[in-house]
Amino acid sequence: MPDLYTLENVGVSYAGQNVLEVPALRIPENIILGISGHNGSGKSTLLRLLAFLEDPTHGRVYLRGEKGSTQKEWLRRRVSLLTQNPYLLKRSVYGNVAYGLKVRKAGQPEEKVAAALNMVGLPPEHFARRKWLQLSGGERQRVALASRLVLQPDVLLLDEPTSNLDQESTHLTRQAMLQAREKWGTNLIVVSHDLDWLGQVSHRVLSMHKGRITNI
Ligand code: ADP
Repeated sequence: MPDLYTLENVGVSYAGQNVLEVPALRIPENIILGISGHNGSGKSTLLRLLAFLEDPTHGRVYLRGEKGSTQKEWLRRRVSLLTQNPYLLKRSVYGNVAYGLKVRKAGQPEEKVAAALNMVGLPPEHFARRKWLQLSGGERQRVALASRLVLQPDVLLLDEPTSNLDQESTHLTRQAMLQAREKWGTNLIVVSHDLDWLGQVSHRVLSMHKGRITNI
């Protein structure tokens, strides 16, 4: 069976500046992979490549043996990225979480939305009708997580998922991602500069420095 991801000779540069260089990397199935590193070390760039939201300047990224590209919509849909400051749509909590399912024309989203909201500790009976403005920062972040979980992606990429969260939201976020892994076999790749937290949730932690992985 191929690895979840294989990266070959991957590099990204912006305006001639090399910001990521990964000669070879294999990420096996079922791992919870942590990625740590200082600001600007290339973590988010690596996540965008793994989400197929950006093509590398050179090199190849494979998902389960399939060469990826931003042009391959069906491959992109297997992966979901929760960015550091996720954007909520200016609609209700329900509208936000159901949106991705509607785009994908998955019928009958009600049950799935309710399950995703329960997973992130936002009981639908209290939260589904709330407007995006009537939420705390931690609740918004968890609505954003629910809107990814509801898609049951093969891979969930989380960029600093707990950086602005209090203890309770941090705990609920961790529970929700682990539940997705248990329920659907979702692979988890988590960027954080909280090394203690990352060490607790991950099987393995990659360290990045100046665009390179320093502990492969
Ligand atoms: P991290 O997530 O580890 O903080 P990033 O991947 O966001 O690091 O950034 C790596 C480097 O690439 C930084 O020096 C950043 O300024 C640069 N960078 C990221 N995105 C762009 C872009 N779209 N254009 C130019 N430079 C960028």
